[in-house]
Amino acid sequence: MSTLVQYVLDKHERPMKDLRISVIDQCNFRCTYCMPAEIFGDDYAFMPQSELLSFDEIVRLVKIFAQFGTEKVRITGGEPLMRKNMDELITRIKQVEGIQDVAITTNAVFLVRQAKKLKAAGLDRVNISLDAIEDDVFKKTNGRGIKTAPVIKGIEAAREAGLPIKINMVVKKGMNEDQILPMARYFKETGDTLRFIEFMDVGNHNGWNMDTVVSKKEIIDEIHQELPLETLEPKYYGEVANRYRYKDGSAEIGVISSVTDAFCSSCTRVRLSADGKLFTCLFASEGYDIKKMLRSDEEDKAIISKLVKIWTRRDDQYSIDRKNKKPVKNKIEMSYIGG
Ligand code: SAM
Repeated sequence: MSTLVQYVLDKHERPMKDLRISVIDQCNFRCTYCMPAEIFGDDYAFMPQSELLSFDEIVRLVKIFAQFGTEKVRITGGEPLMRKNMDELITRIKQVEGIQDVAITTNAVFLVRQAKKLKAAGLDRVNISLDAIEDDVFKKTNGRGIKTAPVIKGIEAAREAGLPIKINMVVKKGMNEDQILPMARYFKETGDTLRFIEFMDVGNHNGWNMDTVVSKKEIIDEIHQELPLETLEPKYYGEVANRYRYKDGSAEIGVISSVTDAFCSSCTRVRLSADGKLFTCLFASEGYDIKKMLRSDEEDKAIISKLVKIWTRRDDQYSIDRKNKKPVKNKIEMSYIGG
């Protein structure tokens, strides 16, 4: 670790450890709860290429973040593998001093072609989103009538390339709660870690209300009845998933319970949109325009001082405050900021 690291803490004493970078706002899926086809249709105006941060700009920012103790970078989107030459970006991020872990969140469809290249570039891990194991349900959730086969092939390609895999499944009442057990059975067999994500009130278009949330307790109770589980301790400070292991030792599962058991108090994540806006919370409505600074010949010094200002003033803990505060209007969309 570089001796130049300057740790900064926010108002709740949280360090800036994880950087999530969205590299594109487009996606090949139209998941009904994330990018519904009615809104993200053929004439939807996605960002022009010129608005996306270039690889040079992204790497420059990663170097700056690393100076503040950021160790982990997650590449997301949109669908990050729709951006060309992601292996080049990963190689460059991996070379930044202090960055210890680079991961990607993807729907896996493009992994069949890219998994080996990404592994060779230094990618450490991959999180794959899959909301159902049965075609009938999955075809509806992804909004494009895509069967599970292309995703399963992507998972297999990642495994063959030697990439550690986690599978993420968003659970929404009325959409796919009947897939909890089939998904658990399937990935218990493969040995991959499956993580259930409570449906969250991100964005403005997904029709969220508390009745659509399947809670961590409901998920765990259902699985435990058929496939007995035991609780595991967190691996590190700020780990978002509560971890469990099947009692027969076959695999692990996790639950990300941002709604019913918020983890804001240890949230060390900072997020960068594809067009270079910085957000300190997934549920924010406004970001800080860092691209403007990058493109107006500001020196790193100016960006660093802006960043210190933003982080030391950071007070947000949306999920903890959810019940007691008025709903935030015009929240950013998940497809814009990434998962
Ligand atoms: N396209 C990539 C993928 O499919 O993983 C990355 C972007 S996607 C926005 C990242 C993750 O956010 C996916 O796992 C998706 O299911 C999840 N997500 C989107 N909207 C969500 C919501 N309202 N609540 C919980 N998770 C959500």
